[in-house]
Amino acid sequence: MQNIGSDQFQDIRDAVRALCAEFPDEYHRKIDEQRGYPEEFVNALTRAGWMAALIPEEYGGSGLGLTEASVIMEEINRAGGNSGACHGQMYNMNTLIRHGSEEQRQKYLPRIAAGELRLQSMGVTEPTTGTDTTRIKTTAVCKGDRYVINGQKVWISRVQHSELMILLARTTPLAEVKKKTEGLSIFIVDVKEAMQKGMQVRPILNMVNHETNELFFDNLEIPAENLIGEEGQGFKYILTGLNAERTLIAAECIGDGYWFVDRVTKYVSERNVFGRPIGQNQGVQFPIAESFIEVEAANLMRFEACRRYDAQEPCGAQANMAKYLAAKASWEAANACLQFHGGFGFACEYDIERKFRETRLYQVAPISTNLILSYVAEHVLGLPRSF
Ligand SMILES: Cc1cc2nc3c(=O)[nH]c(=O)nc-3n(C[C@H](O)[C@H](O)[C@H](O)COP(=O)(O)OP(=O)(O)OC[C@H]3O[C@@H](n4cnc5c(N)ncnc54)[C@H](O)[C@@H]3O)c2cc1C
Repeated sequence: MQNIGSDQFQDIRDAVRALCAEFPDEYHRKIDEQRGYPEEFVNALTRAGWMAALIPEEYGGSGLGLTEASVIMEEINRAGGNSGACHGQMYNMNTLIRHGSEEQRQKYLPRIAAGELRLQSMGVTEPTTGTDTTRIKTTAVCKGDRYVINGQKVWISRVQHSELMILLARTTPLAEVKKKTEGLSIFIVDVKEAMQKGMQVRPILNMVNHETNELFFDNLEIPAENLIGEEGQGFKYILTGLNAERTLIAAECIGDGYWFVDRVTKYVSERNVFGRPIGQNQGVQFPIAESFIEVEAANLMRFEACRRYDAQEPCGAQANMAKYLAAKASWEAANACLQFHGGFGFACEYDIERKFRETRLYQVAPISTNLILSYVAEHVLGLPRSF
């Protein structure tokens, strides 16, 4: 099936597809059944250099942009896999590259590129404040050459499969800052060390096979040198990661969307009921055609968000809109795919119910559709703030 972008980045697409072909549907199905982590798959991606795509060449990576990184993620999902197991390293990377010190880049990037370290986790969300990020209660207090962290996080993914985590904490109380976005800072946390010294990790069993956790910080001490950038400016820096995350997840949803459209198109062409293929009925054709149109449109916004991100132009609106459109389109495609497989859509061996669950997540995480609508209303259209 020809679609927007399918004739671009051919080398990357061919190579990622070839790697993904070694991990067929049965592999991902089994991992899902076992609620396991696709260790071999992520290792293979790392060995092939894809997990170091964004790392500049002088630190051992390939020096590619977010556009190329998004193509890698898209291809994984389009091949039936789930980038959710490994996309953290992609969206966290620019936070470190763009805002970290030269010392930090030297310390971490070559080892990440070599596959010795993983930077798969980002700790932002908290149980009592939810999407209202500037009100987070986790604090980091500077004591000489250390910061002492106290508080709680929720839904923090891949902690058990990552050596490093980027953590957002408040360093100046909300009551003492002029703007609520000030006084927040980000840190690199050595996960294994933190687990010995005051960070407790409690896994959350959830609807998708997505390794995610509650974190509890009880006087966790981390070296002051682990602060990224300037103290108090962390909100600005974390947006680098969040915009990348939204854009990459848009690409993943687009990969899912094409996967659903491919699957259902093939199935309805072959499945005969009432003496003819079900795909001959327009009641079946139209929702599939509609899904394809919407995935294509979302794909245009994804490439625009990528272009702006790579050019270091403001891209908040485009990253949010790409994520909104792509998550909605993949969900519609998932619905059509499930519907027209009839009962077989519910059978695990068809992989549709798994991908259906996986793509549903993106209506809520990493940002809910309502919050995107609110961002566009306020920041793009200039409507009055509602909160
Ligand atoms: C599987 C999974 C993995 C995740 N991984 C990570 C991770 O690695 N790191 C991390 O930091 N976070 C992670 N998250 C958290 C995720 O980003 C949040 O769940 C998401 O941002 C929504 O926040 P919340 O759950 O606190 O919902 P809330 O903020 O409580 O909102 C609940 C719902 O209320 C609605 N709502 C809230 N406020 C408004 C408003 N003002 N106007 C209109 N509607 C509103 C929205 O529809 C929203 O869906 C993950 C979540 C899941 C489920």
